[in-house]
Amino acid sequence: MTNQNVVISEAKTGLAVATAVAVSESNFYSPAMPKPLVAANGYFPRKKSIKKLETNGGGGARINAFIDSMRASSPTRRASETEDQKSWIIHHPSALSMFEDIMNASEGKEIVVFLDYDGTLSPIVEDPDRAFMTNEMREAVRDVAKYFPTAIVSGRCRAKVHNFVKLSELYYAGSHGLDIQRPTKGHKKQRKGNQSVFCQPAREFLPMIEEVHKILLEKMKFIPGAKVENNKFCLSVHFRCVDERIWGELGEQVREVLKNYPTLRLSQGRKVLEIRPAIKWDKGSALEFLLESLGYDKSNNVLPVYIGDDRTDEDAFKVHSILSVEISTIRKVTDGDFCLLGFAQERTRFRNSSV
Ligand SMILES: [Mg+2]
Repeated sequence: MTNQNVVISEAKTGLAVATAVAVSESNFYSPAMPKPLVAANGYFPRKKSIKKLETNGGGGARINAFIDSMRASSPTRRASETEDQKSWIIHHPSALSMFEDIMNASEGKEIVVFLDYDGTLSPIVEDPDRAFMTNEMREAVRDVAKYFPTAIVSGRCRAKVHNFVKLSELYYAGSHGLDIQRPTKGHKKQRKGNQSVFCQPAREFLPMIEEVHKILLEKMKFIPGAKVENNKFCLSVHFRCVDERIWGELGEQVREVLKNYPTLRLSQGRKVLEIRPAIKWDKGSALEFLLESLGYDKSNNVLPVYIGDDRTDEDAFKVHSILSVEISTIRKVTDGDFCLLGFAQERTRFRNSSV
């Protein structure tokens, strides 16, 4: 077996597992087989960027527009299979349906795996402190990491997401990539380059984050179901348990607080508002930093695979030549190349495949 065969063989095993672990715990329909979208040169077509929904610097964005964007980021219903839906599927085909095409495009390339946590490895649950991943999922991620450098990229505090995942052989990029740590356990496929990865580009914001955390805790006491989470370099205001009729009030309260902190910015995720330092650093930056640290920044033979479900994952989906998989239960605007929709049918198809 040649070295290249080894790479391909490992790619099939690892990417299969990576794809499998990313399927969320939903039970929806299986889309029809779309046309292959992988280009002949192995690169994945980039799509136009979605408009980011941030408030600082946006001036007087209307509250109705803000509530609409909160709803758009926090879908609660599955769309019916309309023509629109079918069109969306064509542009974001099922990663499992396209598995052979993806494997062909990854031939000879070294894969690096990036995984979001909430909604990707774990279910979205009412209490974010109880978003546990299953042991089966943990073993699948452990298997992926045996073959490929693997990173968890999350909006959560790094220590918290590490505590959920409990695998020391992974990279962890917490706080939306603002807090990156290398594996504490060796990786056999670790490349040359900087082995002491440790990146915290927003350290000076820590006192301010603490201050805003205290203020938001007080404010959110009066919004039933709201939960403020301190993720060290960023804050999350979860509204998954908040009555949709008062989402606007919640959003307005948060925006009001941030008026006094122009160096912080507000963005939206799935039933969560995220407050972060207004520096040019996001999950995509973290991905690029990790690739560079692994020595892949100038390589044409690397295939970063990013699997995520959140609006903040879109920052990583935009990175050039990445293979991105959007975990989604409904049609939504995304830069993801592929999607994973129907857990039951997709999993059956995956397990019955020869890969
Ligand atoms: Mg997520």
